[in-house]
Amino acid sequence: MATPHRRVLNVRRLRISVLLFVFVLVAGGTIVQRYSAASWKQPLRVTLYPINAAGSVAVFEYIRGLTLTDFVAVAEFLENEAQFYGLATQQPVVIALGPEIESRPPSRPGPRANKLAVIYWSLRLRYWVYQNLSTFGLGFAHTRIFVLYHEASRNQPLAHSFGLQKGMIGVVHAFAIPEQTAQNNIVITHELLHTVGATDKYHGDGYPIFPEGFADPEREPLYPQDTAEIMAGRIPLSVDSAEIPESLEYCVIGPRTATEINW
Ligand SMILES: [Zn+2]
Repeated sequence: MATPHRRVLNVRRLRISVLLFVFVLVAGGTIVQRYSAASWKQPLRVTLYPINAAGSVAVFEYIRGLTLTDFVAVAEFLENEAQFYGLATQQPVVIALGPEIESRPPSRPGPRANKLAVIYWSLRLRYWVYQNLSTFGLGFAHTRIFVLYHEASRNQPLAHSFGLQKGMIGVVHAFAIPEQTAQNNIVITHELLHTVGATDKYHGDGYPIFPEGFADPEREPLYPQDTAEIMAGRIPLSVDSAEIPESLEYCVIGPRTATEINW
């Protein structure tokens, strides 16, 4: 029989082996996945999994009332933009609403965290996906977005949403009120585009980067713009002010983003 000390060592060894196994699997799968996702020969599957981040009855009710119709604007936006860029497929994405997930993903390390902490977190995130969905997220052309719904009443900013190209995983923080659904869809689309290779096009203070973060950089006069580039996320109104659009109807995919996602 193993002594307690040895048992601890064994458990630790096992945990390291599991994480190493996940790492090898993930590293190999990611390369294949990136190629297949970027080709757009078949529609990208996008599954949205709601999570009750507030743990409240109000959010529970909101999630229970969600249907695919609430997210149809995301698919419509991408269809219109794909048509604009002359993409061969008329249906770039197929969106599905997955079951509610009971646990929350591991918190992302802060912007100053060291590389090892970030790698460890990304492995834990993959492992969390595996624990909840029995997949490491290596399926071809399938983005999984976890939408953490919060109560809208409290006047505090939401944690940052993110989308990872590696593993094609998005985590979106959203407010659980119907009036917010249209703006939630902007965030979902933004993070979804990250998972297929799009990069942010705004400065540290949130102001869109010129010209790639402007929907119409050649407009005269330049300000105010009336739409936002989706990866910039704001409509530039003047040289130092920009507003969050009301819905995807006021967003476009700019040429730089289109190139990044292989359109
Ligand atoms: Zn972003």
